Amino acid sequence: MNNNNLHTVLMIEDDPGDSLLIKEMLEQQECKARIVNVERLSEGICFLQQNHCDVVLLDMNLPDSSGLSTMTRLLDAAPTTPIVVLTGLSDESFGIESLKSGAQDYLVKGDIDGRVLKRSIFYAVERKKLEIALKQTRDLFERQARIDYLTGIYNRLMFTELLEAELQRARRYGSELSLIMFDLDHFKNINDTHGHNMGDHVLKEIAKLVSDTIRAHDIISRWGGEEFMLLAPKTDFHQAAILAEKLRVLFETHDFSDGLQVTASFGVTQFRGDDHADSFTARADEAMYMAKQNGRNRIETM
Ligand code: GH3
Ligand code: MG
Ligand code: MG
Ligand code: MG
Repeated sequence: MNNNNLHTVLMIEDDPGDSLLIKEMLEQQECKARIVNVERLSEGICFLQQNHCDVVLLDMNLPDSSGLSTMTRLLDAAPTTPIVVLTGLSDESFGIESLKSGAQDYLVKGDIDGRVLKRSIFYAVERKKLEIALKQTRDLFERQARIDYLTGIYNRLMFTELLEAELQRARRYGSELSLIMFDLDHFKNINDTHGHNMGDHVLKEIAKLVSDTIRAHDIISRWGGEEFMLLAPKTDFHQAAILAEKLRVLFETHDFSDGLQVTASFGVTQFRGDDHADSFTARADEAMYMAKQNGRNRIETM
C-alpha cells in the first residue's frame, strides 16, 4: 500500500476478532499508517477532536451507539473526516443508508479482503477531498450570488428577495417598514480627481460606516454603482428620517482619506398598505432625486 499520505487510520470497532482481522489485512497490504482502535463511539469522537485522522473505519453497532445514528453522530462531530462503514451481513441495508447520509463507502464484514479494504480506504479519502472542494465552491458561489464583491454587503438581487419577505410581513402584521435610498454626491468627481481605487475605497468605507451604525435587523445593500438601499423593519417614517440624518452627518464628518469629504443625498419613505416592491423603491428613488434637486447632502421624505 502506498502510504505517502496515509498517517492515521481510526478503527471504531468493539469486536476484537473483527478489529484484529482488519489490522492484519492492512498490514498484509503493507499499510504503514498508525492504526488506532477504540471500542466506543464516544472514544472515537474524543480521539478525532484531538488528532488528525485520514479515515475512520466505523462499526455501526457499538456499546454506546447502534444503527445509522452511529454514522451521523460521527459525521456531525468530524465533518471533514472520510468514513468507511463496516456492517454485518445481516444489516447491509444500514451500509446503503449510511452512504446516503454521508459515509464515503461501506464494507460488509465477512466479505472483505485486503485489496477491497485498501481500495475502499483510498476511494473514501479521495471522494471526501472532492466533496469538500465541491462544498467550498458551492459556498463561494452562494456567497457571490448574494453579496456585493466590493463592499461585502448584500447585492441588489439579495436585497430584492429580502425586501419581498419584509413587504409580506408588513402586509400581514401591519408592522411598520421604512426604506432609505441614498446616492453619493458628485461621486464621479472623486473618481476623476483621486482615481478609481479611491472611489472604491470610499464605497467600502460607506458600507462599513452604515453597517456599524444600523440595528441587527436593518438591511443595507448596494443597489447600484454609488447607490444604496437601507430597509428598516419596525421603523416608522419619523424614526427612519432620524436614522437618515444620523448617516448624513456621519458621512459628512468622516475623514475618508487625507481630509477627503464625501456626502450623500437621502430619500426616505414608509410602507403603505397598497405598496409592492416597485412602488416602494420608486418612491424612495423619487425622494432621493428631490434631495439632489434641492441641493444635495440632505434628506427628503415622501
Ligand atoms: P450626483 O451627485 O448627481 O449623484 O453625481 P455623481 O457624480 O455621483 O453621479 P453620476 O451618476 O454622474 O456618477 C456616478 C459615478 O459612480 C460614475 C461611476 O463611474 C461611479 N461608480 C459606479 N460604480 C463604481 C465603482 O464600483 N467604483 C468606483 N470607483 N466608481 C463607481
Ligand atoms: Mg459491533
Ligand atoms: Mg451620485
Ligand atoms: Mg447614482
